[in-house]
Amino acid sequence: MRSSWEILQKLSRIERQYIHSLRNQSDPASIQYYTGWHHALEWVSKRGDQVIVDGVVGTGRCSGCAACVTVCPTNVFDYVEDHPVNTRLNHCIECDLCVEACPELHLSDEEIGFKSLDSYAVNDNGFGRYGEVFLSRSTNNEILRRSQDGGTVSSLLIYALKENVIDAAALSTTTPELPLKPMPKLVFEPDDVLSCAGSRYTYAPNLLALKEAFEKGVDKLGVVGVPCQINGLRYLQHSVPDIRYAEWFKQHVVFSIGLFCSEVFTYSGLMKYFNEIGVNPEDVVKINIKGKVIISLKNGDEIVKPLKPLHKYERPACRFCKDYAADNADISVGGLATHGWTITVLRTRVGKTLFEDAVSKGYLEIKELSLEDNSIKLLKKLCQQKKERISPLFFGENL
Ligand SMILES: Cc1cc2nc3c(=O)[nH]c(=O)nc-3n(C[C@H](O)[C@H](O)[C@H](O)COP(=O)(O)OP(=O)(O)OC[C@H]3O[C@@H](n4cnc5c(N)ncnc54)[C@H](O)[C@@H]3O)c2cc1C
Ligand code: SF4
Ligand code: SF4
Ligand code: SF4
Repeated sequence: MRSSWEILQKLSRIERQYIHSLRNQSDPASIQYYTGWHHALEWVSKRGDQVIVDGVVGTGRCSGCAACVTVCPTNVFDYVEDHPVNTRLNHCIECDLCVEACPELHLSDEEIGFKSLDSYAVNDNGFGRYGEVFLSRSTNNEILRRSQDGGTVSSLLIYALKENVIDAAALSTTTPELPLKPMPKLVFEPDDVLSCAGSRYTYAPNLLALKEAFEKGVDKLGVVGVPCQINGLRYLQHSVPDIRYAEWFKQHVVFSIGLFCSEVFTYSGLMKYFNEIGVNPEDVVKINIKGKVIISLKNGDEIVKPLKPLHKYERPACRFCKDYAADNADISVGGLATHGWTITVLRTRVGKTLFEDAVSKGYLEIKELSLEDNSIKLLKKLCQQKKERISPLFFGENL
């Protein structure tokens, strides 16, 4: 019986060999990539769902992005507490799509960046390849009031829905009962975008909303997600070019917006933190993390608490993560030292067009952002720290 770690090592080696052979071909989207995974699975005598559960979830690396759950054509997986569970084992048709879609099984793949971005992304200054970077914010006071930073994400989505750039968007939302526990949501109306505005610092598997979009036959979809989800989306779009089912994600996802992300916390950990700082979680309506934890309460009060005691409740899977700035999104956004504006990194022509149209139609206002600005310096530093962070190799070995 091979251990999960052995399997992961071998899969990673096989993947590297295939990537190497692909570099020597004119068409990187070759069918051989898919064949490579098929051979890898044969070698370990495992089906795709077993590699997902043993090799990725079992080694603690699963980010919870839900790409595998979303892509599985026979609905093998349930999504339980941030992870896929192969509940319906006998449904598996061994199509290998789940392993194709899993970012954690493509650790040595540098091609995905080239497949995701285009020649507009000529700059690389330490926060992923990009074309241009701005500060932006909504021109609408209600959006500004309800959003996390400058309301750029919500404004872009509202513009895109109103102007028929998209028919729906995959986001995260909460309920009034559990305002700190987000869940994925497929929205069709601009008002629903607004009700999803703001950031929740526990995990929401937004890609699950893509499954609903597929089933409902949505033609043009926008996707918002943290970096691990954007990477899952990119593998859904680019790793399985020969499979009609996966082709859907390439054809119907019109744009992606990635949120900068240093970490998320477990829900139970967040509750413990509130207990430690003497705040009743039921009184909390919003959290903003800006080097410290800014907590807005139902009664209108705002309290500021230190961030350090919250770190111990970081979701373990986030310790493996190297992507801070959503390097593969069409547009990446964050709010580092920006005081009500959103840092907006345009990475593709699709992102540039969306952003410029929203600005020209009056949804957004912009400010130039120099590379010498504090926000950019901080962004570069946080990207570097995350890339250089020493990840645990294997849970149980060095955690
Ligand atoms: C978990 C998390 C960690 C983050 N970490 C950082 C950071 O370290 N540094 C930084 O500069 N910025 C970080 N951000 C991004 C920042 O909080 C803002 O989302 C960003 O600046 C855009 O602001 P906005 O006002 O334009 O977005 P808004 O208009 O408020 O829209 C935000 C969008 O994010 C979606 N969303 C909210 N919570 C989640 C979630 N948990 N998972 C997926 N989607 C969600 C909402 O559905 C909404 O559409 C983080 C965001 C999240 C969700
Ligand atoms: S049917 Fe395909 S995608 Fe679903 S679990 Fe099996 S191999 Fe993975
Ligand atoms: S695709 Fe995402 S959710 Fe599925 S195993 Fe890989 S990291 Fe986890
Ligand atoms: S730190 Fe990485 S793995 Fe964790 S939620 Fe953010 S992007 Fe995903």
